[in-house]
Amino acid sequence: MSLVTTNYCIFRALLLLVSLAVSLDDLFAQDVILCQGNYHSEADAREQLKRMASTFSEKAQWEQRAEALRAQILKGAKLSPLPEQTPLNAQIHKRRQYKGYSVESVGFEAAPGFFVYGSLYRPVEKGTYPAVLCPHGHARGPEGGRYRPDQQHRCATLARMGAVVFSYDMIGFGDSEFIGWKHSHPQALTLQTWSSIRAIDFVQSLEDVDKERIAVTGCSGGGTQTFLLTALDSRVTVAAPVVMVSAHFFGGCNCESGMPIHKTKSLETNNAEIAALAAPRPMLLVSVGGDWTKNTPVVEYPYIRRVYSMFEAENQVENAHFPNQKHGYQFMKRQAMYPFLVKHLRLNPKGVFNATTDLFDESKTILETPQQMRVFDETNPPPKHALAPNAKVKLR
Ligand SMILES: [Zn+2]
Repeated sequence: MSLVTTNYCIFRALLLLVSLAVSLDDLFAQDVILCQGNYHSEADAREQLKRMASTFSEKAQWEQRAEALRAQILKGAKLSPLPEQTPLNAQIHKRRQYKGYSVESVGFEAAPGFFVYGSLYRPVEKGTYPAVLCPHGHARGPEGGRYRPDQQHRCATLARMGAVVFSYDMIGFGDSEFIGWKHSHPQALTLQTWSSIRAIDFVQSLEDVDKERIAVTGCSGGGTQTFLLTALDSRVTVAAPVVMVSAHFFGGCNCESGMPIHKTKSLETNNAEIAALAAPRPMLLVSVGGDWTKNTPVVEYPYIRRVYSMFEAENQVENAHFPNQKHGYQFMKRQAMYPFLVKHLRLNPKGVFNATTDLFDESKTILETPQQMRVFDETNPPPKHALAPNAKVKLR
């Protein structure tokens, strides 16, 4: 065979390989089905729940479905196989002590050079305490995310009742934004979900945390982080997703629904069913009349209760519904969450719960400024190996 003929054969073989690669890409692209925002009408969502409910009538069938759902979420979020749990290299500093609790600034590496920034609230007295992760959601305002007053009230009040609380930035919020990261990062869903998993590694590494009592509660986009983490990580023992579990709304941001976690050619689901992956662990659904959780008492909650019934654990899931309230984690919704966490984490409400008013007192929270809460600044510069803002993050 001449050199020309040999080269031609190599050329044809390369062409074949390229065309094969393209067709595989096409095949994959056809399998990518994004369910974003109001992907369903409310009526379609009810029909979908009926279809999904017909696939299981006993615990073993549900567990098989649950395993497939978890695998689909991990694959869609580009977390399959799970990345290596590399050293956190946690920095905990700038301790501020207040009446009944303290706050420290925390940075740790979810992946080499990729930092998670947060505030660590702790009870003052030495002891062993449950941990509560508090993702914050998309609400901004003059002081957004982890800096928001409602977020600080939630964390400080839980710490005053005996919880170690970790409030951590979404990518492009708080310190992450201050350093230059943008929330529109194409890996947002991957990175935030992985950061939540690593946040459990972080709190479990603290000597004052009881590894067997780990809760998570967040609202809106933080509610999405709450039910995704609970679905994927069995170390979460109690969950309270707030104003986000909906069968017809899938989350409006790429960090919630920008990757194919809900639907493939072979398996469909929605956020109500993803929340049900918490079963049989205690879960509180907080819902309101003023957003996409308005149907929770009659649509999502019954579906989730049926899943819990497969474990004979219907009493472990509760719904606190506020028909006249709007979206957010405002005072009355925190008042619904506190007793649920007190009950299931065995917190001590003494000095916080007022039996006369039937309210948990938040007046002792000292609201901090972003400057006080900042993790890295002029005196605590980020390590030299920190990734440049908005870099592509390698997870393994
Ligand atoms: Zn987002």
